[in-house]
Amino acid sequence: MINYRLKGPVSQERQRIRVMAALRENRFPQAILIDGPGGIGKKALAMEIAKALQCTAEGERPCGNCFGCKMAADPGVTDNWLFPMESKEVQARSDDSVSAGSKAKTIQDIKREYIEQIVANPYRTDIFSAAGEISVNLIRTMTGSFAMKGDRVRVVIVAEADRMNDSAANAFLKTLEEVPPDTYFILTASSRDRLLQTIRSRCLALHLLTLSDAEVREETLRVLGPDADEDSVSADVIGLAEGSPGKALFYVDRAPALCRLASDFLVLSLRNEYSELFDRLEDASVAEVAEANGFLEVLSFLISDIMRKESGAPLRLPDTMAQLDMDAFPRIDATALEIALATVQETISRIASRRTSPTVCLQALAIKLFEGSK
Ligand SMILES: [Zn+2]
Repeated sequence: MINYRLKGPVSQERQRIRVMAALRENRFPQAILIDGPGGIGKKALAMEIAKALQCTAEGERPCGNCFGCKMAADPGVTDNWLFPMESKEVQARSDDSVSAGSKAKTIQDIKREYIEQIVANPYRTDIFSAAGEISVNLIRTMTGSFAMKGDRVRVVIVAEADRMNDSAANAFLKTLEEVPPDTYFILTASSRDRLLQTIRSRCLALHLLTLSDAEVREETLRVLGPDADEDSVSADVIGLAEGSPGKALFYVDRAPALCRLASDFLVLSLRNEYSELFDRLEDASVAEVAEANGFLEVLSFLISDIMRKESGAPLRLPDTMAQLDMDAFPRIDATALEIALATVQETISRIASRRTSPTVCLQALAIKLFEGSK
């Protein structure tokens, strides 16, 4: 009797139980779509399922030792992955068209490097370039490789499937309409609504949940390794992570500076001390869109925390709030806080529109924030 035992965080056990039941009862669908917030381990679960499907051990699967399990975890098996790539990367030559001894990076080399990063830390949210997409050429290369599959079970993981462009999505839909025997597709996406409805309807939907704070801490420290400073995964980092180890890993190095800047921004803005505030902004590296919006996310967490403190709710940034001297400025009422939060959100959209430089937007926010309360 073959049993299935997929590993992963306790918070996601219910989703794994569904998968394990389908595997055990031999009714695993040919395509599944794992969706959920970024950095919570969708790719990690996809890899675990790929191993279980390819495993040939008697007894418990995945065994981790058989040929199928090893193939599923081998970054060299590049045909088993699809993910967003930049067009110049997709244009790199293929292994079989490069002469022996050539030093040029082939598309397989580039894919292998990406897969190595995923295997090393599947929670990371910044592996693929923002300019990348899943193009129709990548889909065609994949379907072309089906002919060489042989009779073993094959699992293709389509990571960040919501980044397929239109022609890729249509080509992929055709593949799903006639999946070759013993072939499975596991799609991951943080925004399932961006996928074609016709693709979604052909996949079993698996909605993955965020992790508990304790699990985020544990997973983050595990990824950081035995030499990591435990204090770096602070209460503020856990609060900012909102159940995502990927976000926690993003904030480990950034949280101290971002939280300090957010609290200085608030205090200096309330005191109308703009020249000092503008100097602080200049020193901090928030001149780029991504950095500025990352900072504004922290600032909105801090403003919501002032509201939570008033209502006695648990804080998201307890360390920063403990250091914020609330007596240094006049008491701000709930309405003013709501308006301030909306103003921060408006600034995020304004920066994203790229019509005005992030620095100018942040300076305008400093002046507008808590207008009427100061
Ligand atoms: Zn195995």
